[in-house]
Amino acid sequence: MHIAGNAQQLTPQQRELIALAARLGGEKFAPRAAMHDREASFPFENYEDLRQAGLLGICVPQCHGGLGADFATYVMVAAEIGRHCGATALTYNMHVSSTMWAGFIADALDMSPGQRADHEHNRAIHYERIVHHGKVYSQPFSEGGAAAAGKAPWGTLARPVDGGYEVSGKKIFASLAGAADYYGVLCTLDKPGATQCDSLYLAVPADAPGVQVVGDWDPLGMRGTVSRTLLLDSVLVPHTARLMPEGLYFQAAARFPHMFATLSPTYMGIAQAAYDFTVAYLRAEVPGMPPVKRRMYPTKQVAVAEMRVKLEQTRALFLHNARDAAVDPDKDTRMRLYAAHYTIMENANDIARLAIRTCGGQSMLKSLPLERLYRDSRCGSLMLPWTAELCIDRLGRECLYEAGERDEAIE
Ligand SMILES: Cc1cc2nc3c(=O)[nH]c(=O)nc-3n(C[C@H](O)[C@H](O)[C@H](O)COP(=O)(O)OP(=O)(O)OC[C@H]3O[C@@H](n4cnc5c(N)ncnc54)[C@H](O)[C@@H]3O)c2cc1C
Repeated sequence: MHIAGNAQQLTPQQRELIALAARLGGEKFAPRAAMHDREASFPFENYEDLRQAGLLGICVPQCHGGLGADFATYVMVAAEIGRHCGATALTYNMHVSSTMWAGFIADALDMSPGQRADHEHNRAIHYERIVHHGKVYSQPFSEGGAAAAGKAPWGTLARPVDGGYEVSGKKIFASLAGAADYYGVLCTLDKPGATQCDSLYLAVPADAPGVQVVGDWDPLGMRGTVSRTLLLDSVLVPHTARLMPEGLYFQAAARFPHMFATLSPTYMGIAQAAYDFTVAYLRAEVPGMPPVKRRMYPTKQVAVAEMRVKLEQTRALFLHNARDAAVDPDKDTRMRLYAAHYTIMENANDIARLAIRTCGGQSMLKSLPLERLYRDSRCGSLMLPWTAELCIDRLGRECLYEAGERDEAIE
């Protein structure tokens, strides 16, 4: 089954890149997934495969040597990768997002001619590293406070110094910790009265003095992401470390909210994988399992039908979302975006739950991928800024209130 449903509707580039992701995923990533899950280790070999295939530059503009894929193409490729290894897809998203913020999103934003020229100069440096030197970027934004939910300025501070900035702070859940070459860190410009508008997005070299990865990593799921804590202690970076001009991230986040939904393709892929496994299991086609078919029982047919209904609902919103992505979406588009993101994250876990219930006891053995899919699928709706709770919170409020509307205080 094609991750995009009807492959006929895809562009030639989309078909080709999704096929490439399917081949790498099936032949390389899936066989390694259990080991990285067991050891909570980073899938370096998968990144070597992505590098060799040119996929590190998937969203780098063609004029900078990348593949120039758009948002819709990227999310379908990411979902196909997630079908084979969730941790690889989620960390790949952190890398690719760095290139999207600096790429077609920055192109759509308002900048002065000076900022535009400065950005062109800086992003050429970042893209060159990725395309020609195979460097990997991550995006550790979360800090454990209200900033990652979009409710407060970043606690990590960037103090302007001669030639650049001195960065200090702490980032939690820093996927690719110890694996990325550059950490794309969101900070606040250190000045009196700084607000969220004073955001700064800097690529901090992993080997810069003052950068430290600390803490253990032994979570329920997504174990191959190695999302340990990152400490930044007076780290000096040059002006060219900027992935966006000063203050621009705030504008980007407000005007291109679809970027926050790039966490969900991974979980679309996991939902598909749980369904794929269930069908193979009931048809007695799982390698290494005794050839005992279970498809003839009506209860199994009902259960797999229920899974397929949820999967198609999930895919429909996923594809709609992919097509909708653009700068300055109207209110209805934003509401659909929250609904889509919520649905994908929650349904992935529900489809994995149904898969285990339907396939039965043997299917949850560690020798099979389903219990990993179940654990990985649990992580999606916990991810800020759009946890399941925060999607519902936003939807509920915006369904009932138009911009600027207030109620009298209730006694
Ligand atoms: C596998 C994995 C990989 C990750 N990788 C990265 C990464 O690479 N980069 C990165 O930046 N982050 C990453 N994260 C972190 C993630 O986005 C969250 O920041 C993290 O899960 C925070 O968890 P928390 O429960 O401590 O958040 P808390 O801030 O304690 O929030 C707990 C819950 O309260 C609710 N909540 C939070 N703030 C508000 C609010 N203001 N109003 C109402 N409700 C609120 C939310 O539902 C939230 O789930 C990753 C997380 C996971 C699980």
